[in-house]
Amino acid sequence: MGLIENLTQSLGADNVLTSEADRLFYGHDVFRAGELPAAVVRPGSVKELQAIVRAAYESGTPLVTRGGGASYTDAFAQRRAEGITIDSSRLKRSRSTRRGRP
Ligand SMILES: Cc1cc2nc3c(=O)[nH]c(=O)nc-3n(C[C@H](O)[C@H](O)[C@H](O)COP(=O)(O)OP(=O)(O)OC[C@H]3O[C@@H](n4cnc5c(N)ncnc54)[C@H](O)[C@@H]3O)c2cc1C
Repeated sequence: MGLIENLTQSLGADNVLTSEADRLFYGHDVFRAGELPAAVVRPGSVKELQAIVRAAYESGTPLVTRGGGASYTDAFAQRRAEGITIDSSRLKRSRSTRRGRP
């Protein structure tokens, strides 16, 4: 099973975007585009994010992270055609680990 099928199984088809329109949108910043990502993945938890990073590492697949996409300096542009773009917009909760300390 390929990386994208593997990620579709763990994240669900709604969170693994492979249409050309989605890849063009997430691969383009305010001014410019890099290589078209092979897929855009949208983790909803740290566990899902870890699964993506592990699978990408094991398959030697480049990863870039996209936040709000407001950059205009190629900051999340893919350098290689088979790369995966992580859309972090579903990772909305932040948790402090500094218990009891300001
Ligand atoms: C109209 C306009 C005005 C602007 N004005 C300013 C300004 O006054 N000052 C200023 O500093 N910037 C400004 N910017 C630039 C923009 O705010 C910055 O580029 C900012 O980083 C964009 O945040 P973002 O979440 O959209 O990040 P993105 O553009 O999505 O990504 C920017 C970088 O952050 C990394 N990144 C994003 N999310 C994560 C994550 N969760 N974990 C790890 N890495 C991550 C990406 O990989 C990429 O390298 C402006 C942009 C626009 C379009």
